Amino acid sequence: MSELLKNYLGGRWQSTAAQTVPLFDPVLGTELVCVGAGGLDLAAGFAFARKNGSAALRTMTYGERATMLGAINKVLQSQRDEYFRIATANSGTVRNDSAIDVDGGLYTLGFYAKLGETLGNRRVLLDGEPTRLGKDPLFQSQHLLCPTRGVALLINAFNFPSWGLWEKAAPALLSGVPVIVKPATATAWLAQRMVADVVDANVVPPGALSVVCGSSAGLMDQLQVHDVVSFTGSAQTAALIRGHDAVTCRSVRANIEADSLNAAILLPGETPASSAFDLFVKEVTREMTVKSGQKCTAIRRVFVPESLYSAAAEAISARLEQITVGNPRNDSVRMGSLVNRTQLLAVQEGLALLQQGTQTLHHGARHGFIDADPTVAACIGPTLLGTRDPDRAEAVHETEVFGPVATLLAYRDVAHAVALARRGQGSLVVSLYGSDPTALATIAVELADSHGRVHVISPDVASSQTGHGNVMPQSLHGGPGRAGGGEELGGLRALAFYHRRSALQSSTSLFAHLPSAPM
Ligand code: NAP
Repeated sequence: MSELLKNYLGGRWQSTAAQTVPLFDPVLGTELVCVGAGGLDLAAGFAFARKNGSAALRTMTYGERATMLGAINKVLQSQRDEYFRIATANSGTVRNDSAIDVDGGLYTLGFYAKLGETLGNRRVLLDGEPTRLGKDPLFQSQHLLCPTRGVALLINAFNFPSWGLWEKAAPALLSGVPVIVKPATATAWLAQRMVADVVDANVVPPGALSVVCGSSAGLMDQLQVHDVVSFTGSAQTAALIRGHDAVTCRSVRANIEADSLNAAILLPGETPASSAFDLFVKEVTREMTVKSGQKCTAIRRVFVPESLYSAAAEAISARLEQITVGNPRNDSVRMGSLVNRTQLLAVQEGLALLQQGTQTLHHGARHGFIDADPTVAACIGPTLLGTRDPDRAEAVHETEVFGPVATLLAYRDVAHAVALARRGQGSLVVSLYGSDPTALATIAVELADSHGRVHVISPDVASSQTGHGNVMPQSLHGGPGRAGGGEELGGLRALAFYHRRSALQSSTSLFAHLPSAPM
């Protein structure tokens, strides 16, 4: 048996021989390490985090916790090469794609370390201004934000073992709330190693950061009234989380980030020679192929005016043709593999479903694999589907194929494009490409209620834009409806989830004695 990764819970490393699961290299098929959480005393572990972790973090100010995030970041930076090695082996990603996960996580951590410094020497935050409760200004209301006294259970998806951990843990720890992370089993190695490095470096108090790898059984049962759960994953598992007694009976606060049918829209008025067209084509290709399309924010539906359908199909297909697929250790490979053969099967099934109502414009089967055995590796070439009749392509607006697959859809006019984008029933992100600022602004506002982020690209931001799929900690991440209805990041907004709001009603004179840090 390969090395059994330990769980860090209750302030100590624990391993269990019960119910262990091996993790594999998705390209070579070799076993890497094992994980297992069967038989752990979860109740004692959660109690330890609540009592010791929470108490220690709560004695610290926001400024001190920001310094702690900086120290965590420093530890992780020093082990970066090792994280890239693990990502290549366990996620099958090329270096640039591993960087989105590894460096994306470290950047987010660094961002919250800096932002936290601005909150300084305080242990509670003020929310808004004092408001009179009557004619007399003597008795007023002031809202407070106080860190919740529970733990934050972070349940993560397989595609971002590093970023998924730190984008949640940074705001939680900055808020003074201890974290117990449960990484997705398939890629748990990277998250486990990062937690191990931080724990071994002794830069967080005991109980502030714990990791449980392997089965999720029993984790939700541990949650008590002041705890929170932040989940990222499929809509099916999200439904289980929402329906669990912890949420329905004990009012545990739940944040859900689920799947999403993100769109990119090329506005009318462009030509194949225009800069907006070029930016659009490049981004669609990039989004389809980065991390082999295993990004919750990836472009799945590609909208173009009817007159540009053929030109867009040709331009995107030509770019896809250049994508080399295979073993990420080979420098000539641009796109690595999916996370495992189970995902490969799921992508193949989803693709077959979408193909029933569409044409295949560029077939993934055109791509041979470099240094990878097709009978072993979870590799798949990128496929572009398309239809000029998007109203009837039901599955395209309902099925997330979590791989390098997107569908080109021809729209009649702007109202038609907006209506079609909304058929995603709430998405994480929509991107708009055009050169008319009035038209771009009008559609952006039209779509903002159904999209957590609206990414607007005009030629003037060609070299400064951050990309459709890149989640920046400065901006909100999450989307309504089908996308889960969650909210993460967005600068200091992220802290609200880990705080409780309370209305203080008192003499105005009391306010002078309150700590002051508006959010
Ligand atoms: P998943 O199968 O739903 O698993 C997500 C996490 O939930 C894993 O850690 C899993 O553990 C755990 N889990 C499974 N059953 C559970 C239960 N009954 N109670 C508690 N936890 C449970 O999702 P996935 O396949 O890892 O991720 C792919 C999906 O995530 C895609 O649909 C993608 O769109 C979505 N995603 C969304 C975002 C976003 O920010 N919106 C980001 C990334 C991915 P095990 O691995 O041990 O089963």
